[in-house]
Order: sequence, then structure tokens, then C-alpha cells
Amino acid sequence: MQYTKSMKAYEKARNVIPGGVDSPVRAFKSVGGTPLFIKKGEGAYLVDVDGNRYVDFVQSWGPLIFGHTNKVIEKAVIKAVKKGLSFGAPTKAETKLAESICSLFENIDKIRFVSSGTEAVMSAIRLARGFTCKDDIIKFEGCYHGHSDSLLVQAGSGAVTFGSPSSPGVPADLTKHTLLAKYNDIKSVKKCFENSSNIACVIVEPIAGNMGFVPADASFLEELRSLCDAHGALLIFDEVMSGFRASLKGAQGVYKTVPDLVTFGKVIGGGMPVGAFGGREEIMDKLSPDGPVYQAGTLSGNPVAMAAGLASLEQIIEDETLHVRLEAKAKRLIEGLKAEAQNVGIPLQVGAIGSMFGFFFNDNPVKNFDDALKSDTKRFAAFHQGMLQEGFYFACSQFETSFVCDAMDDEMIDECIEAAAKVFKEMV
Ligand code: PMP
Repeated sequence: MQYTKSMKAYEKARNVIPGGVDSPVRAFKSVGGTPLFIKKGEGAYLVDVDGNRYVDFVQSWGPLIFGHTNKVIEKAVIKAVKKGLSFGAPTKAETKLAESICSLFENIDKIRFVSSGTEAVMSAIRLARGFTCKDDIIKFEGCYHGHSDSLLVQAGSGAVTFGSPSSPGVPADLTKHTLLAKYNDIKSVKKCFENSSNIACVIVEPIAGNMGFVPADASFLEELRSLCDAHGALLIFDEVMSGFRASLKGAQGVYKTVPDLVTFGKVIGGGMPVGAFGGREEIMDKLSPDGPVYQAGTLSGNPVAMAAGLASLEQIIEDETLHVRLEAKAKRLIEGLKAEAQNVGIPLQVGAIGSMFGFFFNDNPVKNFDDALKSDTKRFAAFHQGMLQEGFYFACSQFETSFVCDAMDDEMIDECIEAAAKVFKEMV
């Protein structure tokens, strides 16, 4: 495959955009090669500016559960666009999307929309602090919750990829309120609670996707719930990635644990910029204008974004076998990858829940961030580059999660496994 036009586009972008990209992971730094500049998406496929076509296992990092150019979402967006792009005033579409989400979850009485996952989590943390009148928060090594200051401490995702888990520009005075614990290790959480009586909340990706794909143990989440209850802290599930993807009810459909607050993003915008956070009425009513906790947004609940979200969610809710089909595809893929890797003696750890899947070039199972960091990132880079040449686009870091979408069929998955067999052979 030739990447001449992408290379040119990248050079041009680098003159005027830092690193040539608007979000660091897109620069392909950890896998090498030129970042692909995209011309268009078509169902399961991405087409780059050189005209190369790839089966897309990134799907915009999660939002596109039906694949690109879903006709129902497209139609809803065009209809909304014709009525005006933004009003900065309420519309019925916001209530409709809120009703649709609230009706699915017993623990979500009210929800507020924002424009990104970062904003959703940042606002949920402020609300938890305002509600509990406490300042400290517990987060987990390798979990990523967006790039707001308090949360950019040992974040996963792009922050790990570049070996700089925290960032200059974040005052230590702010991060001293963020206590770090180990994922799937309840003892480390207990220690945090012993060290501080000022803990407002524990925030967790119940199915971590930002240190690679690492699901929580069910008992770990249950114990988090008990610790939060015992200490008067709120439990926040960050379901920006897993929401409506791991199952219809996200991680809450997979585990029994019930959090106090939930953050969403990605799928609920159907590809448009949307985030949201929700929970019980007594907590949510602390938000401005009814309550004292301030939170706002000019473009929050944007009518075009709400139309896309509604069209996406309605299709998900109506289609009772969607997640079963998606998980079957994801499992077919990872089992195939594992078998082909094994054939040539490459150890591969794999996992999938719903439409989320991941694989580590690692000798041992991955339960936390330390385990994830033992993965062979050079092997991952070689695999990524090889698969691109074969026409398959995976998340461009060992520490990211990939996704299947409903526009993929078994034939695509089997072709991908066949291509992977070839690439694995070239790697040894
Ligand atoms: N939380 C989680 C779990 C995420 O995966 C992400 C983004 N990948 C975010 C928060 C931040 O969302 P956004 O990029 O929309 O700000």
C-alpha cells in the first residue's frame, strides 16, 4: 500500500497543528509509520486519502456501533441540521434522549448532557465532591478518564503510550487530591481509605479500555461498592467507552454492582460530540440551577448531536440480539488471532465483552496496569503495521481497545484472521 498522500497531508498539518493531530494517539507514535488521513468511512470500512480501504476496528474509538454512514443516523442528522445547528436553549430532543437512557437504568433518575467524555467525568467528579462535601478522589493506575487536571494522574491511553503518565501544566496542588490505587487490587483501595477520611468518590472504568482491554473482576467491583458505602463515598462508573457497547446496559449489564454516578460518551452521540453523566435524583439535583454545584455548556445538548444520539440509541434498544451478534464477532476474531499467534509461538492474551476486544503481546494474563506494561510493544507495532498493509485498521497502541461494529460480517473477520496468520509468520 502507498501512503504518499497521507504523508503529504501529515507534513502540511504539522506546520499548523501541534504534532499534526488534534488528539495525540492519532499520530501513530507508538506504532510508527504515517498517520492515515481519512477521506471517508463506508460501513465497516475506512478509506484513506490515498484510496486504501481498511476494515476499521477503531470505529472512531467506540462511537460507531453500527459502523460508518449508518443510514438511520444520517437521516436524523440531516433532518436536524435543516432546523438549525444550535440554539443554546432547551429542545425536546434532549428530554427524549434523557428519558430513553433513564428508563434503561434503575440507578439513573436524571442525566445531564455535555459535549465530550472528558467533560462528563470532570463534571461528575465535581458533583461527587459537592454532594459529599469532600475533596479527595480515588482513581486507578492505567484508567483514563479524559484530560482534565485532577484525572491526568497515571492516566492510560495516549498518556501511557508516550511514557508520560502525568503532564506538565497540571499543578501538584490539584493532583494531591487524587489518590492512586491498583486495578483489581482491593487492598490498595483500602489503603487509600486508611490514608484519607476526605474521599468523595472512587472512579473506575468497570471494563478498562485505556490500558488495553482489562475487565474488572466482579468481586473487585462489589468490594469497591462496600468500601464506598462504609466510608460515605460515591462510586462512579466511567462508561464512556463501555456504555451501550459492552451490553445494552454497558458494564451494568455485565456486572451486578450498582454505582452512584455513571458517565457516558461516544455511542450516545452516534459519532457526534456528546457526553453525559447521570445518577440518583438526590445527587443530580445538587447541580445548578436547582442546586449549588455549577456546571454548564453553550453547546451542551446540541440538537444535531441529540438527533444522532437518539437515532443511535433507538436502533440499539430495538435490536435485542445486537450485542449477542457483536460479541460473537469479537470472540470469533480474538480466538482466531490467539490460535494463529500460538501456531508460530507468539504468546497472545485476548479478551472481549460485547463489541469491545483487545489483545496483549504478553506471556501472562493482564489484570492491571503493571501487567499491561510488561507487553511487547515492539511486537504490537510490527503487527499493527503488517495488518495495515493487509487492509485491517486496529487501534494504534498496545494500550488501547479495539471494536467490532454491526456492519462487519464473519467473512471479514475470517479474512482478518487469515491476514493475521501471515503477519504473525513474518514477525517470527
Ligand atoms: N473516559 C473513558 C473511559 C474514555 O475511554 C475516554 C476517551 N477514550 C474519556 C473518558 C474521555 O472522553 P473524550 O475523549 O470524549 O473526552
